[in-house]
Amino acid sequence: MSEEAAVREDICMMAKSLYDRGLTAGSSGNISARLSDGRLLVTPTGSSFGRLDPARLSLFDGEGRLIGGDKPTKEMPLHVAFYETRPKKTGAVVHLHSCHSVALSVLPGVDPDNMLPPLTAYSIMKLGKVKLLPYFMPGDPAMGDAIRGLAGKRSAVMLAAHGPVVSAKDLEAAVYAIEELEETAKLAMLTRGANPSLLTDAQIADLVRTYDVEWD
Ligand SMILES: [Zn+2]
Repeated sequence: MSEEAAVREDICMMAKSLYDRGLTAGSSGNISARLSDGRLLVTPTGSSFGRLDPARLSLFDGEGRLIGGDKPTKEMPLHVAFYETRPKKTGAVVHLHSCHSVALSVLPGVDPDNMLPPLTAYSIMKLGKVKLLPYFMPGDPAMGDAIRGLAGKRSAVMLAAHGPVVSAKDLEAAVYAIEELEETAKLAMLTRGANPSLLTDAQIADLVRTYDVEWD
């Protein structure tokens, strides 16, 4: 199977897995993945993660021109901003409208620079600090500008009252990381107000050093 055919299959398979577990509903969420020649595959606008067709994914050339498939998601600015600002580290971007992350994003007392409380090691290892960005109207190109404003320092952001956007070196890593984000938000919601014990600054520093976590 060619690289392109395999990536097309992987996008649809992982999207269905996310959909089947309720991590994004209806026609929400979008995925992009870059091929080794610089072309980009993207999930189409209005499509459901539950039944994507590998043959109809939007295909862009290395200059960002649509060269095949259906019309892409209107949330393209989110994806493009990660490929532009983290070119060496971004092979895929996943965006979901996942329940617990959105719930946490609209509550008071959330640190906008580091949205997730340090409840487990894996959220720190896989995501670094998750930046909480403001609310934007769907399709507003300013969403992309807000990500560009981070100058490539964050692999994961949360759009308030909307959903998380996570980039990684490849599709599998991006999916695992966004699942970790949602699971940690769920833990934060479950333990909110119950005075949970958090990882200490020293434990966090150990993780950051040992696993080379981006923690600026
Ligand atoms: Zn969205």
